[in-house]
Amino acid sequence: MDNKSIIKKLKLTIQLMELHEENPFKIRSYQSAVNTIDRGEISLVELDQDELQKINGIGKSIAEVIRSLIKSGTFPLLEELLSNTPEGLLEVMQLKGLGPKKIKTLWKELGITSTHELMEACQSGQVAGLKGFGQKTQDTIIAALEFQASNVGKFLYAEIEETSAGLDKLLKERFGENNVVQVGEYARNHEIISDLEWLIISEDRPATHKQINSIEGLVQNRKLSSPYTWVGQLTSPEITLRFRLCTENALVSEFLIRTSSPEHLNLPITDTETMAHLYRKKPYSSPQEVYEEAGMQYIPTELREGYFEVEAAKENKLPKLVENGDLKGILHNHSTYSDGKHSLREMAEQCRDLGYEYLGISDHSQTAVYAGGLDVAKIERQHQEIDELSKELAPFKIFKGIESDILGDGSLDYPDEVLAKFDFIVSSIHSVLNMDTKKATARLLKAIQNPYTTILGHPTGRLLLRRDGYPIDHKTIIDACAKYNVAIEINANPWRLDLDWRWVHYALTQNVKIAINPDSHDKNTYNHMHYGVLVGRKGGLSKDMTLNALNKEEMEAYFENRKSKIKQ
Ligand SMILES: [Zn+2]
Ligand SMILES: [Zn+2]
Repeated sequence: MDNKSIIKKLKLTIQLMELHEENPFKIRSYQSAVNTIDRGEISLVELDQDELQKINGIGKSIAEVIRSLIKSGTFPLLEELLSNTPEGLLEVMQLKGLGPKKIKTLWKELGITSTHELMEACQSGQVAGLKGFGQKTQDTIIAALEFQASNVGKFLYAEIEETSAGLDKLLKERFGENNVVQVGEYARNHEIISDLEWLIISEDRPATHKQINSIEGLVQNRKLSSPYTWVGQLTSPEITLRFRLCTENALVSEFLIRTSSPEHLNLPITDTETMAHLYRKKPYSSPQEVYEEAGMQYIPTELREGYFEVEAAKENKLPKLVENGDLKGILHNHSTYSDGKHSLREMAEQCRDLGYEYLGISDHSQTAVYAGGLDVAKIERQHQEIDELSKELAPFKIFKGIESDILGDGSLDYPDEVLAKFDFIVSSIHSVLNMDTKKATARLLKAIQNPYTTILGHPTGRLLLRRDGYPIDHKTIIDACAKYNVAIEINANPWRLDLDWRWVHYALTQNVKIAINPDSHDKNTYNHMHYGVLVGRKGGLSKDMTLNALNKEEMEAYFENRKSKIKQ
């Protein structure tokens, strides 16, 4: 059990204690332990009782709890709380925007013990009638229930990456390196994955089915399976699996079909043929051969979505897609000056050690009090430290940035003379997310028109599988970024991946540069840029159009040039 799993169990315990109205002091002691572990660097597994107790914020009893969690995955208080809580309520507790007090009311007053019962009570209007609830709360609960239901069985790409790689390796060991190939939405680098899918070459299907069923941790769904397809589930994590059996002769055709979206397959290639026809035409020896035959460029797997790729491939206009190695620096990161976990020095040294030429630091601005946003005095201190560190770490460079809140009226979070002190400014919305399209778009437009905005941060504020973003008019926003020479971020945090790749191609056609930013609050999450690269590629992003593919000198010139155009 690692720190992350320990924190998860402690957080569950806190939620349950709140639900059962345990002693607030006890709850607070658990909360402070969670905060301590979250901030800390040391792996708890390696510590004994004495060493644990010595950590500030962890007392004797919590140290015992942690030891018990490491040994057995649980502890007596948690077990007791769980046994006093109906199982279905745990699912209700996962709903966004429902605190323990409200859940307790639903449970005690309406006898609700599952999400299903909660939905029924909402639909009959009972929830709105409860004291402290009302129509608006009821509507919010319905929306949260629908959101949760639509995401059952779905995973973030990053969450399932390790599982997928492990299965791929195991399948190749069992069936032979060249007899197994992954297809489906994972092969296309989708941001959300609802199943994992492979092609397996099989000349004896019953025998292959038998072999699959002998793999531990796989449960077949016989109703959905056929002689050609094994469908079932992995037991942990519970994700749908699909193994399609095909002959060696059909492999290239099957590979292209199973890695394509239905929209891609339906695109016409001549007056009478679609991409599906082309892929099925005859046994091919390689995917390259298929596209050559049709007189078009090779379409990389992740582009087979039915957006722009077929048209572009026919006209020989597919770009060379950006790669991890093209990125020369990392913009948009946080340090302990605001809500980051690591100091400026730690963030910079790690960045340098990973081989990058520069780091753009952009802590939160003053209005973001909850995130320790920087007031003017703090900015001055940070800039002084950046100057010193840049000198010490040269030729590595730290660019002075800020993630300025876009305030309710669309203005940025400092007066112009303060904004002028930064090399670059990431402008983002963090508060009052409940807006309609018109309001959200107007708010962003005003920020884009501000000459100090260099990069538009996470444009919709979405958190994948957790909450939808505020609605924006993407086209208007992208057009404005083109007009005012503002780059748009692909926030590479795997929960965000915002700007959505479906809009990246349009931004590129308008000549808007894309910055792939990890938004790291921790020196160990720079590798999130990899997820940004994956979705950027889906949108057709090239090295030339990626802002942080510029080297240090080019980046310096870019920022200076932009600033020189601001009329004082
Ligand atoms: Zn942000
Ligand atoms: Zn940020």
